[in-house]
Amino acid sequence: MTDDAASTLENMRTQMERAQEYAQVTENVFTRLLHPERTLEVSLPVLRESGEEEIFKGYRCQFSGARGPYKGGVRYHPSVSMDEVIALAGLMSSKTALVSLPYGGAKGGVVCNPKELTRNEMKRLTRRYTEGIRRMIGPKMDIPAPDMNTGPREMAWMMDTFSVYEGHTIPEVVTGKPLELGGTPGRVEATGRGVAIITEKILEYYGRSPKNTTVAIQGFGNVGSWAGRLLAERGANVIATSDVTGGIYNSDGLDTHDVAAHVESSGQIAGYDGDVDPISNDELLRLDVDVLIPAAVSHSITADVAEEMQADIVVEAANGPTTPRADDILVERDIPAVPDILANAGGVIVSYLEWVQNTQEYRWTLEEVNADLERRLANTFDEMVEAYRSYETPDLRTAAYTISLDRQATAHAYRGLFP
Ligand code: NAD
Repeated sequence: MTDDAASTLENMRTQMERAQEYAQVTENVFTRLLHPERTLEVSLPVLRESGEEEIFKGYRCQFSGARGPYKGGVRYHPSVSMDEVIALAGLMSSKTALVSLPYGGAKGGVVCNPKELTRNEMKRLTRRYTEGIRRMIGPKMDIPAPDMNTGPREMAWMMDTFSVYEGHTIPEVVTGKPLELGGTPGRVEATGRGVAIITEKILEYYGRSPKNTTVAIQGFGNVGSWAGRLLAERGANVIATSDVTGGIYNSDGLDTHDVAAHVESSGQIAGYDGDVDPISNDELLRLDVDVLIPAAVSHSITADVAEEMQADIVVEAANGPTTPRADDILVERDIPAVPDILANAGGVIVSYLEWVQNTQEYRWTLEEVNADLERRLANTFDEMVEAYRSYETPDLRTAAYTISLDRQATAHAYRGLFP
């Protein structure tokens, strides 16, 4: 098997092994950091509208709790598997440590196709899943959040189900809730805003600015569309974007707000009638742009794409978009890639700020949330660049993972091994 076909879990372990060489981590602790602490599989019987019962599979993995309560989203998708959930939980542990949040990492998922479920079926599935994992979660234990195909609506159902069992309302058991139930201003666009902040930082690092920079974005969902709109507001020219239904291109720049409005009303890019030419996903990834932002799925930047890529810089908005072999090629070709565990950390940072507000029973303004997000991401970017220079790591990803490994190893060293 080539590593382009390797699982997300194998890729994550490869990345951690690359950083081990530079981190202050003993072999014993490193071995612990490669293994999830626990993974639960649940069978979820759900009543379909037809009157039949269908069993869905669900998972919750708590990868590492050394640095604080477990934290991570819940994904609904037909391709969800235990391996993928474990890998994404591991990525969360690396991410929370890198951006210095007092959390460990977790992830959840249900194998289902939300497009084939009615609202009531989604509600019954979400409530049953919450019941299935409720002994594992809690505001001081493990705090779920939205991920692919889940959002404020599902978080409200999860919060309600958990609260019913506890006998009182506990908003801080999940983040990403609607504003009226203790959600925070700024959460919906947080990941895209983080991508825009980090893109600006990496451009500054190379003595450039977003102004008149050309950008291509693969995936125009929550993350891609907000990153596109916020980069356009900073003066960038988003010349191409795409989704599962295809892509659009205009060398003078797309009207990102107009495209976002079209996607919001129709659910897809196909059918957009602005002044654009069609472009395939393969062509988009090979466009001659200043910045390429993969914001769709894992493994989109394979070795082949890395060989033929013409972008100057990659900013990873999606989780795990670059395979380790593609990483090696990008290093050889001197194309820097800002890793996912920093570039898309805006979501978990603002989730943390929501949890802090809930536990303090206090509401921050949007300006306060955005300023805190920007400060945390900018500081972490500077730390990553400092590690890249001082450790002389081959790339920014290894630098980011080295910082993260160091922080997790320090927590393990202080806590010791039980018993
Ligand atoms: P989303 O479902 O809102 O959007 C995904 C987009 O990718 C859609 O436009 C979809 O059509 C497109 N897409 C899917 N498969 C594709 C393919 N094969 N080729 C081209 N486009 C394709 O999801 P999102 O929340 O925007 O998440 C995007 C990525 O960012 C995922 O990898 C997710 O794990 C990651 N991420 C999201 C968040 C968040 O807060 N939403 C946080 C961290 C990381």
